[in-house]
Amino acid sequence: MPADETLNTNKFKNEKREKLSSLSSRSSSSSRARAFVSSIVSSSAIEIANENIEKRSREREREIERERERERDLLLYNCRERKDQKMSTEALASNDSLSEEEKKNNNNNNNNNDRNNSIKGEEEEEKEWDIWRAAAYGNQEKLELFVKSNASLVDAKDANGFRPLQWAALNNRVAIAKYLLDLGADVNAGDNERQTALHWAAVRGALPVAELLLQSKAKLHNQDIRGYTAAHVAAQYGHASMLYHFLLRWNLDVNCMDEDRRCPLHWGAYKGYKDVVKLLLAFDADVMRADREGCTALHWAAIRGKAEAAHVLALCGGEELLKVRDTDGNTPAQLAMEKGHKSLSNMLTNQLVTLKEGQTWWSQKGMAIFCLAIVCGLTLMFVNFVVVGPVGTPRVDVALAAWSWMVVISSVTGLIFFWRVANTDPGFVSTRAQLAARSLKNASSSVENLVNDDIDDIEKGGRGGNGGGGEMTSITSAASLKWLDHPELWAGNWERLCVTCKIVKPAGTKHCQVAKRCVRRFDHYCPWMGNTVGAKNHRDFVIFLLLETFAMIVSLLVAVVRVWEENPSEKQRSKTGVLFFVACDVSVLIPVLLLVSSQLAQVARNITTNELMNLHRYAYLRASDGTFKNPFDKGVFRNLVSFFCVDANRRTREFEEKANGYNVAASKAASSVAAQ
Ligand SMILES: [Zn+2]
Repeated sequence: MPADETLNTNKFKNEKREKLSSLSSRSSSSSRARAFVSSIVSSSAIEIANENIEKRSREREREIERERERERDLLLYNCRERKDQKMSTEALASNDSLSEEEKKNNNNNNNNNDRNNSIKGEEEEEKEWDIWRAAAYGNQEKLELFVKSNASLVDAKDANGFRPLQWAALNNRVAIAKYLLDLGADVNAGDNERQTALHWAAVRGALPVAELLLQSKAKLHNQDIRGYTAAHVAAQYGHASMLYHFLLRWNLDVNCMDEDRRCPLHWGAYKGYKDVVKLLLAFDADVMRADREGCTALHWAAIRGKAEAAHVLALCGGEELLKVRDTDGNTPAQLAMEKGHKSLSNMLTNQLVTLKEGQTWWSQKGMAIFCLAIVCGLTLMFVNFVVVGPVGTPRVDVALAAWSWMVVISSVTGLIFFWRVANTDPGFVSTRAQLAARSLKNASSSVENLVNDDIDDIEKGGRGGNGGGGEMTSITSAASLKWLDHPELWAGNWERLCVTCKIVKPAGTKHCQVAKRCVRRFDHYCPWMGNTVGAKNHRDFVIFLLLETFAMIVSLLVAVVRVWEENPSEKQRSKTGVLFFVACDVSVLIPVLLLVSSQLAQVARNITTNELMNLHRYAYLRASDGTFKNPFDKGVFRNLVSFFCVDANRRTREFEEKANGYNVAASKAASSVAAQ
């Protein structure tokens, strides 16, 4: 961690230095040009030009000074982190902080050496103990001795200006912190940089001690000399769980700013913590917010080449965000290119192009119309070339006529299912905006009623945040906190947040990039249908495929029989039409057969295409040892019966109820192991 941090700082320094040098060379060349022109024109113009140059150089100096300050800030943080690390590793090594189990293990492994070392260590430590060290190490006995000898030590600063409560908070010593607070330690007392114990708890994401401090009236929005709140620090160190706790339980202002007008979102993006970025966006962090340099969070992610964070931000901010320019006139894509993050820059540029082009009706439904034309064309060709045939073709016999009718009927029935897949709701989950609008409509009913009303048609697991603003916010903010208060998020499963819809997605739900909505039991987006295939239209999709496959196979067989029909009276008959139909039919049949067989195989295993492609993302598809395990597979026969015969809503609800809580159970198990 410390080495990595230093690296980051150096990188950051280099980046900023490059940025500054390019800035200064640009402005100096332009000022040179200006001076040249003005010398030709007139002397008064020279004066104006000189003034401009001076003004610019003053501004530049100020900016350089600001940059230096920021570099110092980061260095300070890193120094502290390194010191903390040293202190806590020492603390861990000392016998006091070893758990019973570790002690036992140590004793079993290497007895004599260890004991000698620890005795020596204790002797050495005996000389160095002071109240700050006792607080950091969690040694209550020693702490009590110091406090009894001098009560004012409770709030005293050490050589570096840090207080005992800060050291206790940093190392998550809840008992020590409580003891100090009971003795009257000032919970909001800052060090030389005005950092409080809560800031220090945020460095390590020490949630229990942070909760204790907040309950003891610590101010969450206390700022240090750089304007950082505990939330900034938590974002800088990637503690999404801590931020979630602050947001839900302590009304954190998600857009709180530091001295450079940066929010926790800027810091999360700069450090590339995707989960932090997702969480803050779901809680309505302003994605367009620019700092003093005009940089949005996306600019910072682009400067550092943090592709995952940048992707999330770009998804949420859309075209508007991708086009924002900083004070130097650079878009995020340009900054990424400047810093050598070529693939990230290309990704951002492509995304902007796609968004600019937008989706026309034709681009969305064009292929669906083509698909419709293929089905109708094949059916008409079958009737025209195979059944009726050119002049002189004998009429089909009764058996062939019956089969031909079946081809036409199944093909036309298939089109009904095609229409249903293309035009029905595939299982969209309500977005936050829709939920907010609905709650506004039902303003008279209580939050509790709202939640109950929505159960049937909205996700069962969790639901969207607060309204877009103004009156909506006031009505739905209480509800939003309730909706985002979700066991999966407490378990740290940030995958379940959708930053675009701003909801907690139900299990198996995926955000469809084309439809721009979350779809339950998402299977895939089908361009041939012009729609997403999900919980509500998956069965129709498979039935459509089965009917058309059946029609194509039977029509092919009928055509083959017609070609080989040897009848003396029709020797001169042209067979070109039939052969043309056979060629068309086979070329469509082969890909459709592949698709239908893969779909049927997945249905028989009770798994979706999306789940198969993203296995690693779904906790409910993993056994305890990490291997693939599908708990929803009830055997081929029962899976097929359930897919074709059980109502889609009921099937989805059952699935979600079972899949929900896999993460929660896992995290509970993990925490109970940790507690032991
Ligand atoms: Zn979504």
